[in-house]
Amino acid sequence: MQLGTAESEPGELVTGWLEVTDLPTGTPERLPVLVAEGEEDGPTLWITAAIHGNEVTGLAVAQDVMTDDLADEIRGTVVCIPNLNPAGLRRTTRTSYYDDEDPNRFFPDPDAESTRPPSVQQLVDERIYEAFADSADALVDLHTAHVGSMPFLIRDRVLFGEERTESEARDLADDLESLVEAFGMPVVNEYAAEEYTEQNLQRSTAGAALNNAGIPAFTAELGGHDVVEEDTRESGVGGVRNVMRELGVLPGDPDPDAVGPEAPVEFPVKRAVHPHADTPGIARHRVEAGDVVAEGDVVADVCTPHGDRKATVESDYDGYVLGRRHGVAVYENDPVASMAVRDDADLVVPRDANEDESA
Ligand SMILES: [Zn+2]
Repeated sequence: MQLGTAESEPGELVTGWLEVTDLPTGTPERLPVLVAEGEEDGPTLWITAAIHGNEVTGLAVAQDVMTDDLADEIRGTVVCIPNLNPAGLRRTTRTSYYDDEDPNRFFPDPDAESTRPPSVQQLVDERIYEAFADSADALVDLHTAHVGSMPFLIRDRVLFGEERTESEARDLADDLESLVEAFGMPVVNEYAAEEYTEQNLQRSTAGAALNNAGIPAFTAELGGHDVVEEDTRESGVGGVRNVMRELGVLPGDPDPDAVGPEAPVEFPVKRAVHPHADTPGIARHRVEAGDVVAEGDVVADVCTPHGDRKATVESDYDGYVLGRRHGVAVYENDPVASMAVRDDADLVVPRDANEDESA
């Protein structure tokens, strides 16, 4: 395999660079590439990280998975780009400085339309997409979530419609389930279809891999931003190696119990930005990451600047806390937490629910 300047060799770990655009200052913007190829043929796993430049535990996991002797251990190929966003990494910020848009929302989507020419970030995302869409049999995209967040995995819903039939979507969802279960961290389903496309999440790295290219792909949220969290780094490496075992890239069975943490509840959950404060003030949380919450439980008090309680913010759902929102200042309708809440909805859904009803 040739990826940028990296040319893979059986039994070797090779490194190189993938150029994604030219900068105004005369040098190319290039992404670090590592490719480990086994002696024996097998599947190709892609590992990507740090499309949000401050999500550094993901970058560390990607680097540490690609050991010198990985090529001797595997069959097939492991391709790794530990940093999809060099501009964000330079400044330890989420976005690039090409524009201030979220770089993880511009991957190709057959339904996306614009009369304006694609931005440089969109071009960069398209070039990354072209690199993995043809070669990947599975993809894991490594991120981090909030300050003090617990680690978890995001499983996107599989959309059917023009790109694939419902039965193809179910097969893809089954393949995806086996990979997320193998990793070994709590699995949180992504927002329901309407909110998913409203937030352009089908244009994230994993979203486009899954819902456009039809590759089983998911996002790992490895704790908090800005500093490498050592425990989570170690579990993240274990999780990615479990995915390699599930794919048959590494020998042996996955051992998800060795990774952790355990999901705090037994029922299926989806990601929710929830609950929201309807009274502005100073939020004083009553919960922290990992706490189980029942419908009606108070998640936070809202106080005056002097510390007098003036309102409470309750959860509308059963679930658990993934992380508290950073800071304590809340304006009207600001969320106070990110939660995993009960989810009884199907994981395979029509891309356009309204269209499906009329069809
Ligand atoms: Zn991220």
